[in-house]
Amino acid sequence: MTSIAGQSWVEGANDADGDFSLANLPMGVVAGEGRGLRIGVRIGAFIVDCRVLVEAGFLAQLDEPIRSALTGDSLNAFMSLGRGAWRKARAEMTRLLGAECAELRDHPQRKSIMLPEWGMSVRLPCTIGDYSDFYASLNHATNVGSMFRPDNPLLPNWKHMPIGYHGRASSIVATGTPIRRPSGQTVSNDAGPPTFGPTKLLDYELEVGALIGTGNALGEPITVDCALENVFGLVLLNDWSARDLQKWEYQPLGPFLAKNFASTLSGWVVSVDALEPYRVPLPARPTGDPEPLAYLRAANDVLFDVHLEVSIASSAMRSAGTPATRISRGNFKDMYWTIAQMIAHHTSSGCNLRPGDLLASGTVSGASPDSRGCLLERTWRGSEPITLGDGTERKFLQDGDEVIMRAWCERDGLPRIGFGACRGIITPAR
Ligand code: CA
Repeated sequence: MTSIAGQSWVEGANDADGDFSLANLPMGVVAGEGRGLRIGVRIGAFIVDCRVLVEAGFLAQLDEPIRSALTGDSLNAFMSLGRGAWRKARAEMTRLLGAECAELRDHPQRKSIMLPEWGMSVRLPCTIGDYSDFYASLNHATNVGSMFRPDNPLLPNWKHMPIGYHGRASSIVATGTPIRRPSGQTVSNDAGPPTFGPTKLLDYELEVGALIGTGNALGEPITVDCALENVFGLVLLNDWSARDLQKWEYQPLGPFLAKNFASTLSGWVVSVDALEPYRVPLPARPTGDPEPLAYLRAANDVLFDVHLEVSIASSAMRSAGTPATRISRGNFKDMYWTIAQMIAHHTSSGCNLRPGDLLASGTVSGASPDSRGCLLERTWRGSEPITLGDGTERKFLQDGDEVIMRAWCERDGLPRIGFGACRGIITPAR
């Protein structure tokens, strides 16, 4: 009997439409089955408990710091070891889980090492020390800018640097965590006065996040040409946003309480190595656009061909078993600024990034209306409501709505790899 290259002996790993093939092997942190927090590697319908794997004697040929980091309860220590260590661990996991290897498959402790995913809950993959959010989609920035400044949608700085702000790490939550509708100050006319109460314009933002692996020392910028080497992997991020709070507070210092109540992260970190086949060269800039300054320019810079999708299910739809309604479909390759440019710009002042820091792309919107990555754009400020599968209309999110984001890469001749879901249900304001 011959095995097929790239196939695994693990149930569900070879499904053509699955997210978690042998080519993916994303890492995360899980809990359940009477175990505390464990670093896990996802494959098919199973999660490898890395601590039990190491304790059973596997990965013995890897350096002690790698094995030790994998027995921890968050990925930070492993992330700090750098790309060489990540690659060694990944190569050994690929070998152990490949169709031709029986070492783990036939091991007496296999059932204790390989846990069915349905029994486990996914947690945040690492302690996120700092979180910055960019605004790197030209379509998104132009759409939103044109709503508020029809004559001047893009400010003069936008095409010269990836615009961003420093976000809030304490309220980043794992997929599946309920999201309480925030309250705050809103106004009925631009000059005020404000009233305090639950947001009426609750929105999601579809984003891709880069989790920093090694980072840099204070005062030592990361250059754009090697910036991706510092990225441990990518995740999906929902940057929940209260548009009415945002409108009243955002000048002069930018988003504050409109964004700090919650951001949801998908659970499985897809490595830059797994994404390698899905890199696409950064295209030339459109005629008339300025070339980036030298510190933002690299001949090897890339975007990632990642399909993105947002769906919503109301509470009535979930009760009736109605599938979630797809709201938008886009692609991460439509960004104007790359992850490497975001990292180079972020650190160009000397600011240090640390293992586990999160840099998010900003809302990913394509050129077509059905690829717009938030309701503000998708319903054009509520003027073009969308209809859900239960017949109700949405301009913005209602209590009980579940927002489900998905991301995956696929191309003929290549194994599909996916990110899993990034989910959250809105609960009523306190
Ligand atoms: Ca955002």
